[in-house]
Amino acid sequence: MGNDITVKRVAHLTSDANAYGNWDESSLEIQIQSEKEGVSQDNLLRAFWHEAMHSVDDTLSLGLKHKDIDRIGQAIHQILKTKR
Ligand SMILES: [Zn+2]
Repeated sequence: MGNDITVKRVAHLTSDANAYGNWDESSLEIQIQSEKEGVSQDNLLRAFWHEAMHSVDDTLSLGLKHKDIDRIGQAIHQILKTKR
């Protein structure tokens, strides 16, 4: 990989107004919505893992379908949430 990925909490995402996260391949940055009313910590973490999987998909040029990116992100989120 070689390049560092930055994760930032932001009040306004640069795209996807209806999402809680955004992956910007050009700046290697994952943006996660800063906490706001009505958005649970669980949803923000779920968004983080979704965007993290976008970053892996792009960095390794895997060409995953968006549905699979979402499924893998959900799985990691669930594993970390339920681990003891
Ligand atoms: Zn996505």
